[in-house]
Parts: sequence; structure tokens; C-alpha cells
Amino acid sequence: MNDCRAAVITSHNQPLEIQRVRIPDPLEPGALLVKITASTLCGTDVHRWHGPLPDGDTLPIITGHEPCGIVEAINGDRTDILGKPVKPGDRIVWSYVSCGSCYYCSVALQPCICSGRASWGHNRSDQYPYLLGSCAEYMYVPPPCLIIKVPEEVSSASAAASACAYRTVMHGFDRLGAIKSHESVVIQGSGPLGNFATAVARDHGAKKVMVIGAPAARLEVTKRMGADAVLNLEEVTDPKDRRAWVRDRTEGRGADVVIQVANNMAVPEGLTLLRKGGRYLNIGAGGNANISVKSLPQEMIFHTIRSAEPRHWLQAIDFLASRKKTFPFEEMISASYTLDQVNDAMQAMASYQVVKAAIKFQ
Ligand SMILES: [Zn+2]
Ligand SMILES: [Zn+2]
Repeated sequence: MNDCRAAVITSHNQPLEIQRVRIPDPLEPGALLVKITASTLCGTDVHRWHGPLPDGDTLPIITGHEPCGIVEAINGDRTDILGKPVKPGDRIVWSYVSCGSCYYCSVALQPCICSGRASWGHNRSDQYPYLLGSCAEYMYVPPPCLIIKVPEEVSSASAAASACAYRTVMHGFDRLGAIKSHESVVIQGSGPLGNFATAVARDHGAKKVMVIGAPAARLEVTKRMGADAVLNLEEVTDPKDRRAWVRDRTEGRGADVVIQVANNMAVPEGLTLLRKGGRYLNIGAGGNANISVKSLPQEMIFHTIRSAEPRHWLQAIDFLASRKKTFPFEEMISASYTLDQVNDAMQAMASYQVVKAAIKFQ
């Protein structure tokens, strides 16, 4: 076994090719080779396929950055993030790696904005270690990655979604701090991040969770994830009416917490939904932010969240396992494909036909 099949972007906007890509051999000390069980797709994969993104990546790349897989080989002894030994046969997810020595890593202690951070789904597949994209039969796990074991009760597809969407939500709640039992939360967006955030807000003790999103089918999932009230953007098209909807449910003040997981264009409206002195959480703040606001709520706190630290991968996996009976997490993975159907999966994501597509492997 010295190569494996992978979905490769060879030119932007063209169908991905299923190619044979080299498996690095031998592995570096501390590195792992993982047999992928599921890879979920994310909007970023679509943007990169349409690309090029401004980060200067060059083709060919194996698409995908949300993997879950089974350890096939390890060079040396490794332990997981909790100090337990990792063995071949363990099902795992693994973190990104920050450099550890730049200003952001070592002084500011904000490793998610480290410019030397290693991440997946944008690395050349013709250069060592080749397998750094998740839509492939195998992936290489570089030595500094922290490893999180996936318990039996969490599906591979949900674990894969923890490797991007869900752990970013956990990072957001970490920064937000405690939600008090009298506080109300408004979530802007009803995709995987919005629906996962709904469950976390409910679980963290919010008095009321209100979600503004679309389409209706997604909002049905949102309700089952714990929302007290949902508002369909396609039906209530005037932002003034949406603001009134929130005010009616918050004694006229606006929400204590507003969480934006749609895109930056939703920020101006989101700020009108927040009470004075409230907290605004802007998750996934990449992309266009050419926005204008009439006024800012007085004494508010505004957080922007990028990616996550290794502990948030653990928190997301742990949440999926321990709250499995309370929330129907599997409903957020809306379609499954084989590796050979990767182009259908990418098209479905690009046209918003599916919320979260998963590539599943045998
Ligand atoms: Zn992602
Ligand atoms: Zn750094």
C-alpha cells in the first residue's frame, strides 16, 4: 500500500478528479496514518474549489478539512489529549497545530490567529506529506496534532463535523462565558453552526433561545435542537418585523446574547436585536465585512471567533456523546455520498441543497 484514492481539485471550478495520491512512508516520529471513515464538507471547501482564495494556496489539493478516521499506523508512542495511549484501531479526530512561538501563540495566547498555523484541505497533494485533505481514503496526522478519541456513541460523520463547525461553536461559547438562567439568546443562522449553537445555548441554561434562519425544513431541525421560537427569513422579509419579533420576546429590550453564524452581512441587523450592554458573538468572521451600522448598542461586548483551540475539539466530541439523548445531532448531517460522488456532494453544498454533506468510506 503506497498510494490511496483522493478527491483532488486540479483546477478551479472544474470537476474534482479521483486520483491516486502517495502515502508518506516512513511516517515521521510521532506521526499517524489514519484510515478515513467520514469527511464532512463545509462552505470553505466550496469557496476553495471556486477559488483561488487570497491565502495563496496552489493546486493540486485534496479537498476537505473535516475528517474522522481509524488509526492505521503510528510511528512511536502517542497519547490522546487526555493522556491515554493511542493505538491502531482507535477512532479519532485531531486538532490543527499553531506554531507556538509567534506573538499570538506565546504572548497574546490567541493561537487561532497564528499565521503559521497548520490546517487541512488546502495543501498540495504532490508534495510531502501528500495526504492533508479529508476527502481521501487516508490522511496523514503530523506529530504535533493533539488527538481526541471518538466514543462509540458518536457517529463518524458527527465527529467529522466537530473538526470544524462544532468546535468553532464551542470556542465561541468559551469566549462568551456563562449564560445566566435569566438570559435570552438570539441566533442568526440555522445551518450546522446555528443548530449546534442552539443546542449548546439550551444546554448552557439560557432562559429563551430564538433562531432566525431559513428554509423551513432547516428550522424544523432547529426546533428539535432546542429552540423556543424560530423565525423564517423567507417569510418575514422586513428586518423591522424581525426586530419587533425579538423585542416582543425580550420585554422590549433585545436579547442578552446574539450569536451570528450566517455571514458578516448579518451583523448590522444582529446589533439591532441586541439589548444595551449585551454580548455579540460573531462566529466565522472571515469573508466580506464591508458593513455599516447606524449605531452601536451602548456598553456591548463584541467577540469575533476564528477556528478553535484543541480543547474545543474535545468539548465538541464530548457534547455530542454526553447530550446524544437530548439532541438529534444526526439530523444535521443531511446527505451522504461516496468518494466517487464527491462532485455531486460539492455541487449540493454549492447550491445550498444540503446543510451538511458527508463523504462516507467503507
Ligand atoms: Zn470548515
Ligand atoms: Zn504562532
